[in-house]
Amino acid sequence: MSKLFGTVMAAHGRHYLVEAEEMLFNCVTRGKKSDVAVGDVVEYKLTSKNQGVIEAITERKTLLYRSDQYRSKLLAANLSQLFIVVATEPGFSDDLICRALVAAEAGGIKPHLVLNKIDVLDLLPAAKKRLEIYQKLDYPVHFVSAKTNPQQTLDILMPLLEGQSTILIGQSGMGKSSLINLLIPDAAIATREISAALNTGKHTTTFVRSYHLNERSIIIDSPGFQEFGLHHLSEGMLERAFPEFRPHLGQCKFYNCHHHTEPGCAVLAAIKTGEISKMRHDMYEQLVHEAAQTLGYK
Ligand code: GDP
Ligand code: ZN
Repeated sequence: MSKLFGTVMAAHGRHYLVEAEEMLFNCVTRGKKSDVAVGDVVEYKLTSKNQGVIEAITERKTLLYRSDQYRSKLLAANLSQLFIVVATEPGFSDDLICRALVAAEAGGIKPHLVLNKIDVLDLLPAAKKRLEIYQKLDYPVHFVSAKTNPQQTLDILMPLLEGQSTILIGQSGMGKSSLINLLIPDAAIATREISAALNTGKHTTTFVRSYHLNERSIIIDSPGFQEFGLHHLSEGMLERAFPEFRPHLGQCKFYNCHHHTEPGCAVLAAIKTGEISKMRHDMYEQLVHEAAQTLGYK
């Protein structure tokens, strides 16, 4: 029998919805393993008309993790972009943005920031000002208003999403659902179909699912998503996830400098000159601290 391959479109517990040739199959993994992520291209075997078992996962191009009780668990595989949705109101968190940027850098995914609710004019200048730090780091920032200017929002976002697999994340209230519903008008219907195929139960809404924007582009939504998993990142991976550190790496006095308090550290020197922001370096220190507790280094 020839091998069957499909793409994981949604995950709920140990159940995965595998799509192949426009059909959906409710698949499980063998044994207790649950190392499959939405976006994985998997080899599966059918056990009945619409059920199957996942036999193997093909090599991943990229991988994002979520945090679960101080461990990194799989969130989604093979994504090309991460859209971090923020808004003029309620206020957004730099902590969340920085964690998302690190997750994207470490996962090999291109991050974008999307500022929604630009119609809230009195708060717009302050929000724009706060995003300058990310623009200076060459992270693209897009300005939209899902509710008051849907057409312009589509005109800006659609070309960016074309041919890509994009996950949208954001703190609640930023307008992520408004954006998803604008981009995917039949998202609610698609979600009901996915829920039914996965037997999630009517009231379960917090599972990762993908939508087809068109034949070439996928949007991933992860309602209830709390935090990226960064616990598995080593100090070296963390320092490389801060693009502003890169020109200075290798310039420190000690070859094994970790840019904490070491004398002759080029990264610390760049904070003094204002080239590197203290807020970003504090974030680096915090992430090293958190990962050290999990990985047991330091
Ligand atoms: P989510 O929690 O991120 O999914 O946010 P929602 O999409 O549910 O939106 C939160 C609130 O912001 C709702 O009351 C929306 O109507 C409102 N909202 C969404 N987009 C915009 C916008 O572009 N401008 C304004 N003023 N409000 C918006
Ligand atoms: Zn250093």
